[in-house]
Amino acid sequence: MIPPGETIGILGGGQLGRMLAMAAAQLGYRSHIYAPEPDSIAAEVCGGFTCAPWDDAEALARFAADCAVITYEFENVPVAPLAHLGAVQLLPHPRALKTAQDRVAEKRFIEPLGGRPAPWAAVDSAADLAAAITRIGAPGVLKTRRDGYDGKGQWRIMAPADAASLDLPTQLSGKLGPLVYERFITFSHEFSVLLCRGQDGDVRFWDTPCNVHKGGILARSSVPAPRLVQQQEPEARALARRAAEALGYVGVLTLEFFATDKGPVFNEMAPRVHNSGHWTIEGAITSQFENHVRAICGLPLGDTRLAAAGVELRNVIGDQAEDWAAILSDPANHLHLYGKAAARPGRKMGHVTRLTF
Ligand code: AMP
Repeated sequence: MIPPGETIGILGGGQLGRMLAMAAAQLGYRSHIYAPEPDSIAAEVCGGFTCAPWDDAEALARFAADCAVITYEFENVPVAPLAHLGAVQLLPHPRALKTAQDRVAEKRFIEPLGGRPAPWAAVDSAADLAAAITRIGAPGVLKTRRDGYDGKGQWRIMAPADAASLDLPTQLSGKLGPLVYERFITFSHEFSVLLCRGQDGDVRFWDTPCNVHKGGILARSSVPAPRLVQQQEPEARALARRAAEALGYVGVLTLEFFATDKGPVFNEMAPRVHNSGHWTIEGAITSQFENHVRAICGLPLGDTRLAAAGVELRNVIGDQAEDWAAILSDPANHLHLYGKAAARPGRKMGHVTRLTF
C-alpha cells in the first residue's frame, strides 16, 4: 500500500492528468507529471513536472526516482521506453496500454473473451482495402490502427468507389497502412462500461452512461441510460470484467459499445479514466479519478453508486468555453474548465455536470 504523502507519477499532461492529480491531492498525495509538451494543464496543479520526450531514458529514470507508483492518462505513450522506469510499479500494467494502442490487437484480445466487434479487417495496402470492402461490405469506416482519437484518423466509406477517392494524409499514401476497416454499425445508442479494479481483484462498476458523439467527439453522457442500454449492460459488464481480469488490470478501465438490436457491439477500450465518466465527480459517491488513485495505491475502493436520481455531462468544446459566465448563472451547473489557452474548434475545453433529484 502506498500511503498518503507519497508521490504519484502520471504519464501525460492533459485534462485527465489534471483531474487525477486533483483527486490525488484530496487524498494527500503529491503528483508528478511527465509530458513532452511544456504547456501541460495537468502540471499546473501538480508539485512535480518533467517535460521531456517519451523516449528520453534519463528523464524517465529521474522521474521514476521521484515516484512511489506511476500511472498514465494517455494511451498513446510509447511502451518500449517505459522499461526505463525501472522497478517503480506502472499501473495499469503496460500490457493494457499495448493492447489498447492498436485497434487490431484490441479486437484480437476482445474476441476470444466473447466480445463482438463490428466485422473488421486489417488494411495495409490499397489491395487489402478493396478486399476488405468486398468481404465486409459498405458502408464502413476506415480507421488508423494507432494514434486515433476524437474521430481523427477515420474515413467513412459509403460505397466501394469511395475507397479510390479517399483523402488520406500523405503519410498513408503510396502504401496505405496500418489501418483497419470496419463495417458501419447501425445502432440505437452508444454507451460505455466504466469499472475500477483494485489490487485485491475487487471490481466496481459505475452506472452505465449513454453517450452522444458529434463529429466523432463526445458531446454528452447521461445516466440512467435508456432501457435498451440497461438490458445490454449485464453482457457488456461481463465482458469488461473478463477483459480486466485477463489483463490483471488495476485502475479504471473503459469499454465503449454500440447498442444494437442484436446486442452490444464492442467498439473500443481505453485503459484509463474516460471522458464519459467525468460526471462521476459530482454524480457518484466516489469519482472515477478518486477510485483510480485508490486502486493504484492499493487502498480500498470507494462506493460507485449514483449520488442523484440522474446525471448529465455535457462537454464544453471550442468557443463554447466563452459561455462560462452564462453556464455559471444557472446554479445547478457544475462547470469544469481545463485551463487550455487556445479554444480551437473541436478541442475539449471543459465540461458541465448537472444532477437531477
Ligand atoms: P472511435 O474513435 O472508434 O470511438 O470512433 C468515434 C465515433 O465514430 C464512435 O463513437 C461512433 O460514433 C463512430 N463510429 C466509429 N466506428 C463506427 C462503426 N464501426 N460504426 C458506426 N459508427 C462508428
